[in-house]
Amino acid sequence: MQPGASEAQIEHVLERIGELGLTPHLSRGQFRTIIGAIGDKQPHHQGVLEAIDGVERVVPIMQPFKLASREFHTDNTVVEVAGVKFGGADLAIIAGPCAVEDRQMLGRIGSAVRQRGAVMLRGGAFKPRTSPYDFQGLGEEGLKMLREVGDELGVPIVSEVLAAADVELVGRYVDMFQIGARNTQNFQLLKEVGDAGKPVLMKRGFAATIREYLMSAEYVLSRGNRDVVLCERGIKTFETEVRFTLDVSAVPVIKHYCHLPVIVDPSHAAGNRQYVVALALAGIAAGADGIIVEVHDRPEEARCDGAQALLPETFGEMVEQIRKIGAVLGRNTSSRQ
Ligand code: PEP
Ligand code: MN
Repeated sequence: MQPGASEAQIEHVLERIGELGLTPHLSRGQFRTIIGAIGDKQPHHQGVLEAIDGVERVVPIMQPFKLASREFHTDNTVVEVAGVKFGGADLAIIAGPCAVEDRQMLGRIGSAVRQRGAVMLRGGAFKPRTSPYDFQGLGEEGLKMLREVGDELGVPIVSEVLAAADVELVGRYVDMFQIGARNTQNFQLLKEVGDAGKPVLMKRGFAATIREYLMSAEYVLSRGNRDVVLCERGIKTFETEVRFTLDVSAVPVIKHYCHLPVIVDPSHAAGNRQYVVALALAGIAAGADGIIVEVHDRPEEARCDGAQALLPETFGEMVEQIRKIGAVLGRNTSSRQ
């Protein structure tokens, strides 16, 4: 729309898009309003829309991902989760155990990471384990503990939702849904979280190309949910020294094509705490908007992913290093007061 377009003009465009059998998506930027029209493009559409008062230009979006593309939304999107911002000047640090194991451990680890700069608490209650014999998570009990500890510490919480049938249940507790790497192309689940109206932290599938990954984000966006944060967490390569290979290049590549915030998960990429800090710093240096990292104070007792869990002290040292790299890049690493 033209910079000074009136509300009535915007409203009229939305209506006309609907009449053409397309779905309108309104995006109000700081300087201008952009209206997406998604659907089957017919030859007459462009002319009809261009003729409407207040319309400045009609631009076909060539990428298969539309709402996720920079062509649709030029500025970086800032996603806010209960006061924590992803994609602006701040670097967001999410930390916590792989799985919620019990109330005491979560309280201990939660306060340890919060003291050291985490602004959001993570913890799985529904765990996608490779083996059916491994710990599957505490389910709703785990979510209750996470909510309680998050509230006590004054930080929002994020936890994975494994199945479409659980979206309503998980949504009652979390501030942000996590979609796991194994579910990046579970399209029914993506539609459900898209409809749930809560922010989504979407991991990249370990065998998903960047384009496939952006199409997954498009699923959530297409349901009217704009609050999507992407997360590079390592992909399958021929290398076996690490659990997955953190695709650092995904950060600038995604940012080139897409306006959504991107964070990195160095823990699942490394699979070994020895490499976690280096990968976290590499991600930040490459332009990531934050990290999500696993921390445990008694890794030997961890029921899941103990080998990659940072000790709280190491986590604290890493936050200090992130702060320094962030400062070079003009970013703040804020901690909650
Ligand atoms: C997790 O964050 O606990 C997790 C299972 O991650 P991913 O889906 O990336 O493997
Ligand atoms: Mn884990």
